[in-house]
Amino acid sequence: MTDLETLAQAASTCTRCPLAERRRNVVFGEGDPTLGLVLVGEGPGDSEDAMGRPFVGRAGQLLDRAIVEAGLSREQVYITNTVKCRAADWSSGKPVNRAPTDEEADACRQWLLPQLELLKPLVILCVGAPSARNLIKRDFKITRERGLYFPCKFARTAIATLHPAYILRQMNISGDGGFGLLVADIAKAWAAATRLKAEPPKGR
Ligand code: URA
Repeated sequence: MTDLETLAQAASTCTRCPLAERRRNVVFGEGDPTLGLVLVGEGPGDSEDAMGRPFVGRAGQLLDRAIVEAGLSREQVYITNTVKCRAADWSSGKPVNRAPTDEEADACRQWLLPQLELLKPLVILCVGAPSARNLIKRDFKITRERGLYFPCKFARTAIATLHPAYILRQMNISGDGGFGLLVADIAKAWAAATRLKAEPPKGR
């Protein structure tokens, strides 16, 4: 068993925050950890919670399309989330997805940080503002700062992009809703990972 599988197994019984009470599955992450690009989203929604896999609902399908338009495939990247359990408001009796709180994101760093330590990404692509605020800087402004390289403790560099759920909402209002920017940011992150992977190891 790889260390990543051991960590995923430990995370599958986590009770560090109240999200554990209603979750059906802990969504740890999946994909190819060897090519250098790791996507970190916000957190699982209904479909992900049901299936135990990241980005498999409507937003995930849009992300898959963007990945393909950027010239690669989902199998070439590793995909995970800021929080591993679904964050939802249950006050109406039915779950309504919501952004994770800072406390939930902080509690889940105990899984995300060792996960990133094992993955050793060259490039992290933060998908959405909560991920960028968690991994790049607390006051990250997604509309102004997306698509730019930032230093990051957990990778050689990090870039943030628009969340596909936001793009789906914007598409109802006008045009492509920012889909072209998502594609461009994925392509940029992939190009950086490819370039860094080709670099000779330091110290020789
Ligand atoms: N949105 C996310 O941020 N992550 C998922 O896994 C699904 C939807």
